[in-house]
Amino acid sequence: VVCRFCGSVPAVQTKFRGHRGMIVLMQFLSTEGPFCRDCGLSVYRYMTSRTLIQGWWGYGSIFITPVTVLINLFRRLKLARLAAPQPNPHGASQPPMSPGPRLLQRPMTWLGIAIPIIAVTLIVLFAGS
Ligand SMILES: [Zn+2]
Repeated sequence: VVCRFCGSVPAVQTKFRGHRGMIVLMQFLSTEGPFCRDCGLSVYRYMTSRTLIQGWWGYGSIFITPVTVLINLFRRLKLARLAAPQPNPHGASQPPMSPGPRLLQRPMTWLGIAIPIIAVTLIVLFAGS
């Protein structure tokens, strides 16, 4: 199994999900592996941080977004156990993607976590008045 993006080894087969809520409509996104550790972390961080921003904006999406994030967190464990990517000795490969900053080091992640907290606070305030 080689990474679908860079061709490095080792790689694991997994799939990261994203979610976008649009009031009543919603969009399910996914990127399927196999991924090497670095390309997989890059995809995981990108999709999870975007989901935290774009996921909350719909009726069903309020519930689907945290589930999507939890699925990604769980699947990330499989990647984190991989050794650092090495060029595939039997085929072409290119340098792996940069994994980028960790999820909790991205301002978008914190903004995304703040959205449901602000929403619940506003609902409580308006319900109380
Ligand atoms: Zn890769």
